[in-house]
Amino acid sequence: MSDYSIWMLEFAWVPDAPTSSLVYGRHNLGTEKLPYCYTLLRGHGKTILLDCGVNYTSHGKEFMDRFNVQNWFPPEDILNEVGCSPELVTDVILTHAHFDHMGGMELFPNATFHIQQDELAAWVSIMLLDRRFRWLLTATDTGDMLYAVQLAREGRMRGIDGNVDNLFPGIDVRVARDTHTAASQYVIIRNDGKISSDDVYTYAGDLLYRHDNMHGGNREDPLYLPVGLAFGSQTNLLFATHEILKTVNFEIERVLTPHEPEMTKMYPSRTTKNGHYLIEVALAEGQQSYV
Ligand SMILES: [Zn+2]
Repeated sequence: MSDYSIWMLEFAWVPDAPTSSLVYGRHNLGTEKLPYCYTLLRGHGKTILLDCGVNYTSHGKEFMDRFNVQNWFPPEDILNEVGCSPELVTDVILTHAHFDHMGGMELFPNATFHIQQDELAAWVSIMLLDRRFRWLLTATDTGDMLYAVQLAREGRMRGIDGNVDNLFPGIDVRVARDTHTAASQYVIIRNDGKISSDDVYTYAGDLLYRHDNMHGGNREDPLYLPVGLAFGSQTNLLFATHEILKTVNFEIERVLTPHEPEMTKMYPSRTTKNGHYLIEVALAEGQQSYV
């Protein structure tokens, strides 16, 4: 039986993301839909969100307009689809500090946030560089960094130093340094609570956008291809991909990739009234289905 219920919840999308931005080397191949999702875990008395989306206001609105992010709805609408609300979220694990993963912080008034301390520190360092380096801030809302520090002052932003087992019961985090960002982390959910678990899901954040990043379009003879947007080493990204796949015994469907629409075909899913998809990855004991 599952310890946590797990839902992947689409909250917006980009209708025309360049294919080359998703899988490195796929130039001149047009565009495709890029869903934006966060993932909700409920169990052990906790309501945990993996990344927290973005807020369509101020800088967040500028970023969303720049990237042509459409059909955004606030978390009260999205979480309501699975009988939850933003006020009920106790904790948010941030995989990294890009606007579409972190920009929704202010929408979760009771949550404590968890980020790799080196991730936040690296972005503050980048903010100090000559403005000729501003490409590094392509997907980073500097306003989010200020708000993160404000949350730290209030005791609601906790720094994680590297790999941690049982950040919450059965939930481990692993740092992937110098990859998509300076200190991205991925989240391992051992959903039977066992140390050698037979029921693992790993949430990849942006270390992987698509399943193609894990098999290169060839499932019989897989080839790792890095995501199209990396601020660190692509070699390190491939090693992180290998580590992520090892956590799930190379079962690709157990890698939860928030930007991969194919996830809808791997688990029960439905379309919500706002046109988003909702994927029910696991149900804890006694939890009703919302699909
Ligand atoms: Zn990112």
